[in-house]
Amino acid sequence: MIIKLEKNLNPQVIDNLKSNLKNIGYQGNEVKTQFDHYLICIGKKPFDLRNVGCMEGVQDIHKVTDPYKLVSRQWRVHDTVVDLGDDVRLGTGHFQIMAGPCSIESEEQVVGTVKHLKENGVRIMRGGVYKPRSSPYSFRGLGIEGLKMFHRICSEYGVKIITEVMMVEQIEDMLEYVDIFQVGARNAQNFNLLDALGKVDKPVMLKRGISGTIDELLYAAEYVFSNGNERILLCERGIRSYENAYRNTMDVNAIAMLKDKTHLPVIGDPSHGIGIRKFVEPIALAAVMAGADGIIMEVHETPEKAFSDGQQTLNYDEAGQLYAKMRQAFQMRSGWN
Ligand code: PEP
Ligand code: MN
Repeated sequence: MIIKLEKNLNPQVIDNLKSNLKNIGYQGNEVKTQFDHYLICIGKKPFDLRNVGCMEGVQDIHKVTDPYKLVSRQWRVHDTVVDLGDDVRLGTGHFQIMAGPCSIESEEQVVGTVKHLKENGVRIMRGGVYKPRSSPYSFRGLGIEGLKMFHRICSEYGVKIITEVMMVEQIEDMLEYVDIFQVGARNAQNFNLLDALGKVDKPVMLKRGISGTIDELLYAAEYVFSNGNERILLCERGIRSYENAYRNTMDVNAIAMLKDKTHLPVIGDPSHGIGIRKFVEPIALAAVMAGADGIIMEVHETPEKAFSDGQQTLNYDEAGQLYAKMRQAFQMRSGWN
């Protein structure tokens, strides 16, 4: 059960409410976000909604049978739309493309990419400055100075930034330079990081864990939401399966299923999803048709020279064609709804 509390309640009223709920077998967990104040009530006993609805301090009450609560579709009337400002929105009805290199490499590279994005009407640039690499000897990113440079150039051109945060300690320094924090697949169950990102008022995109289930992804989102941050995006980026003909198995099923289970926006990442350049296009289009609210993809002026993930990165021409096709696919899909 989710109880939406009235605004500016006296703490005594909340305590009374919690003890009344305890009497009917429910533990009330208080959650205060940037938008609302809730009691998430965990318990199993049947109860009469009307008896709780008339308790002091209750604005609204919702029955949620899913094990995750706040991220469940069962209680939200409208899907969550994450607003980045300047008319950039993510969520149902607002298809967004996020594109850029795997890693931020140089100022020249960022300027070139931003120009390419502007020419193609793409509003959000991706690029890692802290890179989780399988080998410690690979390029691991330009760090905070790289992020400042990335931010300076993107601000000049009115392009938003999504970039990965790997540790709790990085959040504070990164905060003013980031529009969306990305949590990578390798950190999908780093609950300390999720707790900490729940305490900031910046959108967070959670990538599905390398072998993560859909439920685990939803629980990760519940961590962020229950710590106070409602601005969450989920990302399907391929999972590890027995198949080794490609880097990961893009689970397009998950996109359709997540859209059914949660009110949060769902993003597809075809670059990591298959890991092979020539298949990025069909997989991106499949993700759009499956219901993705956006696509995040890797783009580089010369993919062969990229510091990381060049094998799955499109050049500007290939990317430009794909943006147009994805927008067409989204239009087509919207027409069917
Ligand atoms: C990335 O986006 O470059 C990345 C490292 O993604 P993932 O965490 O999905 O592997
Ligand atoms: Mn990458």
